[in-house]
Amino acid sequence: MRVLVINCGSSSIKYKFYEMAREKLISKGAIERIGEKGSPVTNHRQGLKLILKAVGRVEAIGHRVVHGAEDFREPTLINEKVIRKIRECSRLAPIHNPANLEGILACKALLKGIKQAAVFDTAFHQSLPPRAFIYGLPYRFYRQDKIRKYGFHGTSHEYVAYEAAKLLRKNISQVNLITCHLGNGCSIAAVKNGHPIDTSMGFTPLEGLLMGTRSGDIDPAIITYLVRKKKLSPEAVDEILNKESGLKGISGISNDMRKITLAAKKGNGRAKLAIEIFIYRLKKYIWAYLGVLGEADAVVFTAGIGEHRPEIVRGACLGLFNNLRVKPKVMVIPTDEELMIARQTYKLVKKI
Ligand code: ADP
Repeated sequence: MRVLVINCGSSSIKYKFYEMAREKLISKGAIERIGEKGSPVTNHRQGLKLILKAVGRVEAIGHRVVHGAEDFREPTLINEKVIRKIRECSRLAPIHNPANLEGILACKALLKGIKQAAVFDTAFHQSLPPRAFIYGLPYRFYRQDKIRKYGFHGTSHEYVAYEAAKLLRKNISQVNLITCHLGNGCSIAAVKNGHPIDTSMGFTPLEGLLMGTRSGDIDPAIITYLVRKKKLSPEAVDEILNKESGLKGISGISNDMRKITLAAKKGNGRAKLAIEIFIYRLKKYIWAYLGVLGEADAVVFTAGIGEHRPEIVRGACLGLFNNLRVKPKVMVIPTDEELMIARQTYKLVKKI
């Protein structure tokens, strides 16, 4: 079965095209700057038309959808009801879900009758128990507004968890893992018997580890302090926390770990501090999740930093397992979110 995986952003479409019987990647590509001044592609539908022309015969389509809230615990075949629900989830991901939906609607119009699946970034983490996903806020904010921890990067955590189980020669339902996705965005999950029981990203992808440009955990009172004392608007605070913080904010150099490492090697103090904080925060989370799990078969590292920066992996694990009865293996597994989406789409469509 030939499965097309689509990842629609607000001004871009990335795709990968597979033959799933052998999990063979046939082609991949991206269209960027959609709708921007001077761009020949004015909307998503036009972009998808070009992609469909380029790839040839498609038998099923898998879409990455960022937010599935509590409505989607698993990948789902798309119908009118699912489209409605994804639209409702847009209030929780106002930039991403509408873009994802654009892709779904365009494919629906262009390829009538082709099965489409939605694979959600939040779905894998829907196994979290209330003790992990309820914040210490008045309970009405959860009940009325659905303010809770959702967690993100689910497709990546799930992919590496499956691959780790294969390497450990165990069934996924028998493994306890700590999975660390360290890209520009960073998150970590405690996976018990194949299902997450905690994860570091929260209501939004801002919580948790230090990231490229995101702060990760901070005292929430800093936000009201910035608004009151520095007279910053909510939008300005949002921008600072999401785009000007993390590795970039501390180092003052870049969000890119390669550039920061280079500067640190040349003796730049703030670059060294940014790396130290990154590793320290990661180490604290790994230790906390070891406590939550009791025992772990492996700690798995993935994405740009996880796959390519062994000194960060070493730093985060250094001395951590010394006193443990069962020492977890340390694994580096390249993530492949698109292949995971293709696998899940294939599985759903094959069943019909
Ligand atoms: P994204 O989350 O945008 O997909 P990536 O998974 O590519 O990002 O991760 C980006 C981070 O990984 C950056 O900090 C970058 O420095 C680091 N990184 C990516 N590729 C490499 C590489 N080949 N060598 C060293 N560091 C890398």
